Amino acid sequence: MLYLLRFAETGREAQARRRKTSRDIVAVLGAEIDDLRVLSTDTGRILVHTARDALPTLKTVHGLSSFSPCRHCRLDELEASIVELCRHAVRDASSFCVRIKRVGTHAFTSAEMAASLGACIRQQFPAIAVDLDRPDVVIGVEIRQVDCYVFDRVIPGADRRPNAARDSIGNTTPAGPVRFLVDQMLGPLAGWLRLLGFDSAYLHDVPDCHLVRRARAEGRVILTRDRQLSETPAVTAYYVYSTSLPRQLIEVAELLDLRYDPERMFTRCSLCNRPVEPVEKASIATRVPRVAYQQYDEFTFCRTCDKLYWKGGQYRRILRQLRHLVAPTDDSARTVRRPPQ
Ligand SMILES: [Zn+2]
Repeated sequence: MLYLLRFAETGREAQARRRKTSRDIVAVLGAEIDDLRVLSTDTGRILVHTARDALPTLKTVHGLSSFSPCRHCRLDELEASIVELCRHAVRDASSFCVRIKRVGTHAFTSAEMAASLGACIRQQFPAIAVDLDRPDVVIGVEIRQVDCYVFDRVIPGADRRPNAARDSIGNTTPAGPVRFLVDQMLGPLAGWLRLLGFDSAYLHDVPDCHLVRRARAEGRVILTRDRQLSETPAVTAYYVYSTSLPRQLIEVAELLDLRYDPERMFTRCSLCNRPVEPVEKASIATRVPRVAYQQYDEFTFCRTCDKLYWKGGQYRRILRQLRHLVAPTDDSARTVRRPPQ
């Protein structure tokens, strides 16, 4: 697998510092990944190859601002390479955009190339629309002279992850699963984190100091679209860049190394965060669509909201989109499970 690694050095003597940073990053990676091959280094970029899954290691390396698993092609192969990437990348998406970064002299502008590739993708996958503001999928292309690198994921580096999150969050730590406090601009994200089983408080119309106080008191990580709040040193807070689901879920998972566990899905109410309870199927026959009633055997409900849940089409759609972030099980998408008592 090819990985495009990005790092930045600015200010005085940036070029000399970049060389040192690049050497340092390569040395750290080389010590962890025995078959690592450095294919090229360029301004703020390192291209490496390994037969291993390097993502777990890359997430721990300081100095990287971000990285992407990518494909390489020549400029005259770019359209074909993009179409190949999109067969997987846009499969469950309804919208996309193409973002180009270009180094060198070319007969086209970045905007022209983005438009041309966008049209090519639309031709191959007519069901998906272009959305420049809130795309489900961003197809990234870096063009360096005649070499092109295409990718659909930009994973933040270790230095962009909150300190406390790195130290205390994860499925294996004694602290248990991460708990969230989601601000008012991310309501749909809060709902989905709850459906995925994460304790996610959602507050709106409260001052930032209230959010900070509650996050500290309850050991919660704040997710916010407020840049100033995300930089509050008193708490672990993270600025969510993406503007659409499920990209936000992917971003949060990649930032905090979360795995979504199908066993825990649908164990909380998406409206109020309360753990849901099993309900007798016969007692809700008139309250769910006939098809759902026939197809599923297990239903749960929230005692506060009186809302019913079952693992239907919406559940399977989001699970497909998060497939590389969902802990593998034999029957994650089909079996309806009873939540823990
Ligand atoms: Zn509820």
